[in-house]
Amino acid sequence: MIQLTIPLNFLGNMYREIRQALVDMDEMFRLLDQPPEVTDRDGARPLRVDAGEIVFDRVEFGYDPERPILKGLSFRVAPGQKVAVVGSSGAGKSTIGRLLFRFYDVTGGAIRIDGQDIRDVTQDSLHRAIGVVPQDTVLFNDTIGYNIAYGRDDATQEEIEAAARAARLHDFILSLPQGYDTPVGERGLKLSGGEKQRVGIARTLLKDPPILILDEATSALDTATEAGIQAELEAAGRGRSVIVIAHRLSTIADADRILVLEDGRLVEEGTHEALLARGGRYAELWRRQGAEADQAVAAE
Ligand code: ATP
Repeated sequence: MIQLTIPLNFLGNMYREIRQALVDMDEMFRLLDQPPEVTDRDGARPLRVDAGEIVFDRVEFGYDPERPILKGLSFRVAPGQKVAVVGSSGAGKSTIGRLLFRFYDVTGGAIRIDGQDIRDVTQDSLHRAIGVVPQDTVLFNDTIGYNIAYGRDDATQEEIEAAARAARLHDFILSLPQGYDTPVGERGLKLSGGEKQRVGIARTLLKDPPILILDEATSALDTATEAGIQAELEAAGRGRSVIVIAHRLSTIADADRILVLEDGRLVEEGTHEALLARGGRYAELWRRQGAEADQAVAAE
């Protein structure tokens, strides 16, 4: 009997471990959303980031060959600049971030960082150079500390806490029963959308990349927290090249340049003031969003 239970226990544990590994792998792929067909080229070299210039050069792309999403899109993010991308829903804004991270390869044109085509560099070095604060941060079934440190195995507790402070998460974590060792995710504490997003911000701050992609970084936060985090993101963005995928216009009025994307094409480009003065598509989006905000206030 004993002889039988031991192997069964052993198998049970092994089964649990394998299942756990599969769940984590599944989460990892969701996090990376990485189709397996994008692989390193033979002889791929590590990306060398000097200044952090990003160039989209007549980029064409469609998830489905029958349906083009980006149609010859060209723009440049100068080193250290903050460039925001706006446009109506489905225009292709988030796709820009996914292509820069090389979740998918462009079907025409090229994307270059400091003069290097991102298809010629190792994905590992590319991913290390780019920090992404996504719309929806995926959490691993592990502690909140692990989730912040994810991607920086060598981070010290001090560094983890500094990142958590900068993302306005530290006091919240200290209020949890096991502090930084509190399990989160599906099998642990469920975090709110805003808290998850702050984990994503802390993770990115800790990674300290020269290039940042903020995809609607503060969508799930309340106004007071948003103002605080906005300031932190602002500070975090200094000295880095930043692409903000903006779904609301209020957070990007200070961008160095705003790109207005419609149906996969650039239709306007300039600063907030210049685009408002122009009275075109951006001015229309701005007016419409102002009217929606007024309506929301009136409805409260
Ligand atoms: P929103 O402001 O609503 O987030 P967006 O401008 O960021 O929109 P994208 O997410 O870039 O839009 O999507 C552009 C188009 O590509 C959409 O029509 C969308 O349906 C399609 N699309 C996005 N992701 C995929 C995918 N994984 N597979 C197929 N089509 C996709």
